[in-house]
Amino acid sequence: MSIAQEDLRPCPARITLDAAQLAFFDGLPAEAPSVQTELGCELELGHEGSHAALGQQVEATMWWIQWTLSASEINPYTWCPAKSTPPVEERECTLFDGHPGRHVGGPDSPRSEAA
Ligand SMILES: [Zn+2]
Ligand SMILES: [Zn+2]
Repeated sequence: MSIAQEDLRPCPARITLDAAQLAFFDGLPAEAPSVQTELGCELELGHEGSHAALGQQVEATMWWIQWTLSASEINPYTWCPAKSTPPVEERECTLFDGHPGRHVGGPDSPRSEAA
């Protein structure tokens, strides 16, 4: 059986957080260590709208940084509902509710390699 994940390529866009954005993330009551200064878009290649990368998670709220060529902002989201759909836990979507493009995620996400 082949897995229909082979053609799921991530968007190559990257962003470097500025001091104010890093300060915002540092100020969150998150258990995770501080955010990386450079983040990559986690949406699928060719997606519509802004690029998006998960900055920090605080309980049920995920803070995503979203950016375009000219601007960036940090917004709170909840998990994509596909994450909580039981059947196969490896296919949990790691994106935010309402994200453009297809669901992505799982343990073999290319995003897990260290930058
Ligand atoms: Zn993107
Ligand atoms: Zn999803």
